[in-house]
Amino acid sequence: FTMADKIEKTFKFVVVGGGIAGVTCVEQLSYSLQSADVALITASPHIKAVTNYKQVAKVLEEFDVEEQPTSVLEEKFPNLTVIHSAVNTLNTRSHLVETADGKVYGYEKLCICSGARPKLLIQDKPYVLGIRDTDSAQEFQKQLTKARKIVVVGNGGIALELVYEVEGCEVIWAVKDKTIGNTFFDAGAAQFLIPSLGADKPEREAACKRTRYTTDYPTDGRGSGPTEPGSALGPDWHRGLVLKGAEWVRTFAKLLFWNLILKRDMFISVGNKTLLTLFKKNFSPCCGQASRTWPVYVLLTNGKTFGCDFVVSATGVIPNTEPFLRGNNFALADDGGLRVDDHMVTSEPDVYAAGDVCTACWDHSPLWQQMRLWTQARQMGWHAGRCMAACALSETIELDFCFELFSHITKFFNYKVFLLGKFNAQGLGSDYELLLRYTKGEEYVKVVLQGGRMVGAVLIGETDLEETFENLILNQMDLTPYGEDLLNPNIDIEDYFD
Ligand code: FAD
Repeated sequence: FTMADKIEKTFKFVVVGGGIAGVTCVEQLSYSLQSADVALITASPHIKAVTNYKQVAKVLEEFDVEEQPTSVLEEKFPNLTVIHSAVNTLNTRSHLVETADGKVYGYEKLCICSGARPKLLIQDKPYVLGIRDTDSAQEFQKQLTKARKIVVVGNGGIALELVYEVEGCEVIWAVKDKTIGNTFFDAGAAQFLIPSLGADKPEREAACKRTRYTTDYPTDGRGSGPTEPGSALGPDWHRGLVLKGAEWVRTFAKLLFWNLILKRDMFISVGNKTLLTLFKKNFSPCCGQASRTWPVYVLLTNGKTFGCDFVVSATGVIPNTEPFLRGNNFALADDGGLRVDDHMVTSEPDVYAAGDVCTACWDHSPLWQQMRLWTQARQMGWHAGRCMAACALSETIELDFCFELFSHITKFFNYKVFLLGKFNAQGLGSDYELLLRYTKGEEYVKVVLQGGRMVGAVLIGETDLEETFENLILNQMDLTPYGEDLLNPNIDIEDYFD
């Protein structure tokens, strides 16, 4: 049989992936074309829905992520069919997808929203763990209850949250960059946040605001089993998970630099970074190193070897493209993502992509950059849905305004964080100026100026500056006359620019 002989049904639109990007795309399609047959094919038994959406300013947005049963979507949109299976094969010439349970579906237009998976140093469960979805977070939690010492490798958002949240277990934090959190921050912001690692944490909120559902996988090996990737967790992924280790001791995050993992008697090279010891003064030898054996040993570039119970590899993600590439001709970006244009169209006809799986390859606005974050997964899914519907209706559509300015709201070490535009002077070379305002334990404000105009900002703490700064970046007003008064705490900047 060829795939075409086995077609179950042909849909006008098929969306693959039940994460934020896929679900937002499906909602947009089902809403815009209520008579069109839409299918959502997803490997995970639950979908991720955006709730409590709030437009904070013109571009800045805030929302929660809720895991929901797929029936919620089907009840809302009668034209939607949810298919619980993973796509194994795609044939873009015949417009067909085949799922893991052997069924074949046709499509007129397809959107791939299959997300990304952790880039692990090495595949070696349970000694090396990556955190991506509810299952891997629960596996991590299970291992942590028995752990006395763990090594966290990586310097992005996940590593940053882990070293802050984990308690009762010694944490060795292996960072190859000069500062912590370099994906989001510069050295100044890192210095502002470092004291929080040793400080007492505020009481946790008792309840987890994200609803969770138990995952029952079929035991007969068919359908979506635990090997299928689930959706990536949202920003409050650690809430409701008790991240406590075996020993109730104060957590120390030790900043070190890594290049080798040594497990039992094996050396596995994972890089060759030079030793930089910015935080060496904080470093003290680990107790009990010689007196016990550990399941895993990590050898760092500073020559020190640490035994630990397991390693958390939080060193970025790889787009989930494999099942879609075989036999097709997708153009891939250097980071492995499916290249998409400003209409979220890939290089294959009638195939769109959105969220972590794709790489935005249009001419970006000078104030926007792609980062694999849930805000962008929502925005891309929404834009892809609009573009697919517009194409079906032969309408034209422009790139949405949200891609004019990079914006992200998050929380690190319990501080509210707003990131705007070229917040880390990305791609500006040396042609920029910085203005800083820093109040220990309270706020950190950084403004990036180019040619006297604001092109980026980092706001940590309750600064109330986000809306004004968003406006100043969007309207590109010449701020030269205001000089350093821009951050003068005695001037009410909001009134100033009203
Ligand atoms: P995903 O949410 O990964 O969804 C992919 C979907 O595709 C899943 O439903 C999966 O089951 C399905 N799928 C995959 N392959 C197939 C297939 N072959 N067939 C069918 N279905 C398939 N972002 C932030 O903005 N702030 C944060 O603080 C933050 N913290 C994070 C913490 C952690 C631990 C992690 C892992 C991520 C975090 N992120 C954060 C990133 C954010 O979660 C992702 O950028 C976002 O969820 C991506 O959404 P997506 O829809 O593209 O992909």
